[in-house]
Amino acid sequence: QVLVIGSANEDHVLTVDALPVPGATVLAGSSTLTAGGKGANQAVAAARGGADTAFVAALGADDRGARLRAALEGAGVDTRLVGRRPGAPTGLAVVTVAASGENAIVVAAGANAELDADAVEAALADATPAHLVVVQCEIPVPAVCRALEVAGRRGAFAILNLAPFVALPERALRAVGLLVVNESEARAALGERPGAAGRAVDDLAPALAARFGCAVVVTLGARGARCRTREGRDVTVPAHPVPDAVDTTGAGDAFVGFLAAALARGADLADAARTASVAAALSVQRPGAQASFPALAEVDAVLAT
Ligand code: ADP
Repeated sequence: QVLVIGSANEDHVLTVDALPVPGATVLAGSSTLTAGGKGANQAVAAARGGADTAFVAALGADDRGARLRAALEGAGVDTRLVGRRPGAPTGLAVVTVAASGENAIVVAAGANAELDADAVEAALADATPAHLVVVQCEIPVPAVCRALEVAGRRGAFAILNLAPFVALPERALRAVGLLVVNESEARAALGERPGAAGRAVDDLAPALAARFGCAVVVTLGARGARCRTREGRDVTVPAHPVPDAVDTTGAGDAFVGFLAAALARGADLADAARTASVAAALSVQRPGAQASFPALAEVDAVLAT
């Protein structure tokens, strides 16, 4: 079983010609509501990837929360540990996308901010012991730490998607079996300053493995991914070529969810990353986050060619 612990937001996506400057009002060409949040996206991806998946999260007692729960259940995610916080609104992200592809995003964490360490511990006490626990960083830091520590105590394999990047205490990091980051998160985790000349991309996973003492996957968008296994082997996973990247929202989440599902089936890290890379590439060819995630059969069909 895969147990994902993290955020759930409703994304309100507004397309505009140009992002509004301060004080301006602009009209959106279209507005869409989609289910998002890194935690929920990864739970849906793990379920699509064939894993028996449960999710620990906090939603408000509002219509947004009901829609998000329905999306999770529609994807086959076990939502019994998704709590309701009647006093807090469900997480909301307002995503403004300009014709240039530039975006500006405002997130109201709402109920996600109430998923505290004790709530995580209580949910994990009720969970079926999972082989694999997946955590990202859109919930409070103490909750991330507690999730990792409890996973470690219970002998589960913990995957940390350090996204968005936050500094975590050493004690929590000791429980991490696999770190998954994109390039900017990798550089932040290594203390590189944005814009400064940094390591070559091939050196990021080995440097992170040395710093964090675990296996590492660094995702590099259209340049694929680099893995450093627990045994110290470096593996380059090329991106699956796509004719047209329509929408890369959630590509990283598709990658993490499918990676977790493949590892839960017993795949080694390199094979799991190859599966994840195909799933993520299929997702960028369709709009949306959760809605763009493929089924495992589609991924397997590509892998078989
Ligand atoms: P994030 O979305 O978290 O920033 P990345 O941009 O690194 O993460 O993308 C995650 C993974 O999605 C990549 O490792 C790759 O497998 C896949 N991917 C992203 N963009 C493309 C693309 N344009 N073509 C093919 N695959 C892509």
